[in-house]
Amino acid sequence: MSWKTISLLITGVIFLTSCDKSAPDKEPHNKSFFAMDTYMSITAYGKNADTALNQVEEKVSELENLWSVTRESSEFYKINHSNGQNISVSPETAELIDFSIEISEITDGALDCSIYPVLTEWGFTTGDYKIPTDERLSELLEYTDYRKINFDGKSISIPENMQIDSGAVGKGLTGDIITEILVKNGIDSALLDLGGNIQTIGKKPDDTEWKIGLRSPFDEGNFATLEISDCAVITSGGYERYFIGEDGKTYWHILDPATGRPAESGLVSVTVIGREGKLCDALSTALFVMGLEKSEDLWKSRNDFEMVVVTDDGKIYLTEGIEDKFSLNQMYANLYTEVIYR
Ligand code: ADP
Ligand code: MG
Repeated sequence: MSWKTISLLITGVIFLTSCDKSAPDKEPHNKSFFAMDTYMSITAYGKNADTALNQVEEKVSELENLWSVTRESSEFYKINHSNGQNISVSPETAELIDFSIEISEITDGALDCSIYPVLTEWGFTTGDYKIPTDERLSELLEYTDYRKINFDGKSISIPENMQIDSGAVGKGLTGDIITEILVKNGIDSALLDLGGNIQTIGKKPDDTEWKIGLRSPFDEGNFATLEISDCAVITSGGYERYFIGEDGKTYWHILDPATGRPAESGLVSVTVIGREGKLCDALSTALFVMGLEKSEDLWKSRNDFEMVVVTDDGKIYLTEGIEDKFSLNQMYANLYTEVIYR
């Protein structure tokens, strides 16, 4: 081997090493913070990750300032204290309201953002739990009706006494908005955990799929694992927030707008998997209210989501699109599972 060849080889090695430095950044960059009443943790990979994550935190705080029902400067506060007046809203709030109404329509009111006063009455917004009387519930249900919301795409008016909140959709839409910011910054691999709402961008940096655990509604473990990429996995469960009444019954925070009481549809957990966080979030709450049969019908009428539901007798039903990506964890291998086909 001539000296010339050797020096060319050395140059090659140096060149390769320096190339490697600019290769994709496989180190995780993380940002965790408390917002929207929950703990959020976002892990992103890529050279702009830190800048992107700072933008994300700022955006979430901006959205919280728009959507909080308790901050007097928020748009939701203004809407809820408008005495029937018209209120102009930001594009983000407009999207949230527009989408909530759309999902209310397709779920026949199982999702209803005007359920908020009923939630408050049960104490779910403060932790000061109580079982409301039938009279009080029927009084409050008079103002629970998304069809009475007037929204023209830019401004909204609601009847006096009605109050709305973003509880069932806000975090999912926040995930979509965060995803957009990360993607704009060139991030092609990220895991968003917004208080248990999972959203992913691309695959893991080693090019394998993200493994997402599904919490068991009956104990502390994860009953199953989903291997997914580029999508959201969002669960609504009765076990997330509940209290036990003096009558010994369990009352949870997902209410049936038809009765004003905790939804008793036979389901204890609903996970929705799809591209859009806002759809998964809204549907996880709505399907919990609707029960298995109606959820199945809705799934058959669309092709933008998959689901895994657990019934109160411990059975698991999953839709065919997620079958290959779903596996029961060892400890739960005996659970009854059934795949729903189109
Ligand atoms: P979480 O946000 O607690 O993870 P969900 O996504 O299931 O869980 O949303 C539940 C929240 O949605 C409740 O805390 C409440 O604010 C609101 N909510 C409960 N029932 C309904 C309903 N039928 N329609 C709209 N919002 C609801
Ligand atoms: Mg939800």
